Amino acid sequence: MGSRTYRAEAIVLKTLDLGEADRILTLLTRHFGKVRVMAKGIRRPTSRLSGHAEPLAHATFQLARGRELDVLTGAESRSTYRALREDLTLIAAGWYLAELADRFTVDHAPAAPAFDLLETALRHLDAGHPPALVCRWWDLHLLDRSGFRPQLGSCSRCSGELRETAHGWSPHDGGVVCSSCIDRSTVGMPALSVRALKSLRYLLVSDFAAAALLRVDAALERDLERHLRTFLQYVLDRDIASSRLMDELARLPRPTISPVS
Ligand SMILES: [Zn+2]
Repeated sequence: MGSRTYRAEAIVLKTLDLGEADRILTLLTRHFGKVRVMAKGIRRPTSRLSGHAEPLAHATFQLARGRELDVLTGAESRSTYRALREDLTLIAAGWYLAELADRFTVDHAPAAPAFDLLETALRHLDAGHPPALVCRWWDLHLLDRSGFRPQLGSCSRCSGELRETAHGWSPHDGGVVCSSCIDRSTVGMPALSVRALKSLRYLLVSDFAAAALLRVDAALERDLERHLRTFLQYVLDRDIASSRLMDELARLPRPTISPVS
């Protein structure tokens, strides 16, 4: 009996409702990688476990081995991420992290570095750090830990040294491209400013405490997001659905202070 059940610390990446009251959870576990589990009856009002069956729930899950999918039998919350659940911008950022964590991991392959990175990013989002900074730090470190570290130290096309001048950004080549390689390239290549390059380098080598010291104005924030988004899309060979949601939210007018009478 004992060997049929096990416990796993995990964060819910996504959910899929099934039938009347069931739900399949995709969990990123600390020790067993990504696993999909069946949560039976979880959508009934009487379910004790429903709070643990939402995206971004972080808990120690008790699971029973099943024929196809393992089955959720219990859960103890590890973090509630209360602030993160009450703000649409933070929720969208959390979904963005979860979507990328899902894309960059495969079922049942050990993924402790990705789990730790996700846990760290969610904790700092919840603590009130700027979502854009958390997301860009996450982008770079997720790429790094997944074997797709962008080349930032020398030209990714000719391996030549970089001078203090504007460079190009080429996900296809693997990172920064020197000024002489841009000249010879036939297609238009996005420019990478010296400031953006230095910020990318700094974020890549920094833990979050150090990354949080980086001063990012709105223009730099947009540049970093654009460069990393094209890089991630190139690596994944697809769009990132939740980044479209963040774009939509950024376009919404800010709430005004004066009440409408
Ligand atoms: Zn070059």
